[in-house]
Amino acid sequence: EAYLAAIEENRHLNIYVEVFAEEALATAARQDWARTQDARLGKLAGVVISIKDVICYAGHGASAGSRMLEDFVSPYTATALQRLLDEDAIVIGRTNCDEFAMGSGTENSHYGPTRNAADPARVPGGSSGGAAVSVQAGTCLLAVGSSTGGSIRQPASFCGLYGFKPTYGRISRHGLIAYGSSFDQLGFLAHNATDIALALQISAGADPYDATAPNKEVPLYAKADPDRSPKKIAYFADLHSSEAIDPAIRQAMQDTVDAFRAAGHTVSPASFSYFDYVVPTYYVLTTAEASSNLSRFDGMRYGYRSPAAQDLAETYTLSRSEGFGTEVQRRILLGTFVLSSGYYDAYFGKAQKVRRLIRDQLQGILDTHDFILMPVSPSLPWPVGEQTDDPVANYLADIYTVLANLAGLPAIAVPTPPAGHLPVGYQLMADHWEEAALLNFVRGLA
Ligand code: GLN
Repeated sequence: EAYLAAIEENRHLNIYVEVFAEEALATAARQDWARTQDARLGKLAGVVISIKDVICYAGHGASAGSRMLEDFVSPYTATALQRLLDEDAIVIGRTNCDEFAMGSGTENSHYGPTRNAADPARVPGGSSGGAAVSVQAGTCLLAVGSSTGGSIRQPASFCGLYGFKPTYGRISRHGLIAYGSSFDQLGFLAHNATDIALALQISAGADPYDATAPNKEVPLYAKADPDRSPKKIAYFADLHSSEAIDPAIRQAMQDTVDAFRAAGHTVSPASFSYFDYVVPTYYVLTTAEASSNLSRFDGMRYGYRSPAAQDLAETYTLSRSEGFGTEVQRRILLGTFVLSSGYYDAYFGKAQKVRRLIRDQLQGILDTHDFILMPVSPSLPWPVGEQTDDPVANYLADIYTVLANLAGLPAIAVPTPPAGHLPVGYQLMADHWEEAALLNFVRGLA
């Protein structure tokens, strides 16, 4: 009831696409009753969560922030969500996001922009902006989001939260509406890393419905002790003097380096020579994958169908033109271009090779260090509407987060003291499958 009251108080922030009020109250009442009967309850009994509007939940809408799926009701539940439900998590609603998770400010949603609770004139980051504000504004305890290139860490950092994406494959993608399948991962936003560790422990692991989720042992992340032993941390010194980064963020990075050193960790500069190629590589590959994934929305099988269409060709063109927003259309066009026969080798093939070089160089750093420390974003939350006409400026701001997704590495955003009233954070990346080391370290900082 308190969370639902917070949702009412914060309507102006446009956090939720849909609130499951009655259902959440009924589930909570059932759990209260079960408790009086000494019945066994799951690890998440009483834990209220939100789900990003790209996650399928049987009998519930899942629209990916798009007109295309405005009336879609999912016939099945995402594996990760099912595992949370099996432990008695209570889902309070589905949160607003950039359309098909394409964006960095939650300004590209069919349902209008979400606003940052720290300053409603500013964006909450994206694409999991509704997810971030759902926790920031006290409307739930933990949010399930998705990350293709930073959509959990960046909004977490814009809203003063912890935001975590696991190793590619750690959590099943079954039931996550696809954007770039070789990048997409589910993850969590919360007020601390212990809550994230518990959600990860419950939702991770092999799934017969997702061949990219391997049969690897899932550690009991939340049971482990916080780790305060000395670590070797790499950072990119050039970034700390870069004019392209907001001075408040540079200061936060320097303060973090100093604090790590004072705590006995070794923090040393490393070099990474591909920063210029990170954003182009990410956008060539993800738009290619998106153009393929989104071809299923053809106006025929499910989703929006234009009432004006007279024949098959018009059903395709009008349904897509009316059903998809500008940013999604831009990316489908870019993706089909880089995949077209005349340009495949020059763009898509080349980008795949660069992705491997990026991954190998990061791997080299992680062979000799426990973690890599980086900014999350070069900028603080910007005013709503300021960047909507400049997609390239938006893309360039993804430079620090897309690295982990290009390389499939686990990464977490950690909040620092705010710059004035605006939240700031840094991120740490770890080697593949080293979520336990990463989370235990961050839990030791608190
Ligand atoms: N901002 C990035 C993009 O628009 C990342 C989005 C995401 O992680 N879903 O692609």
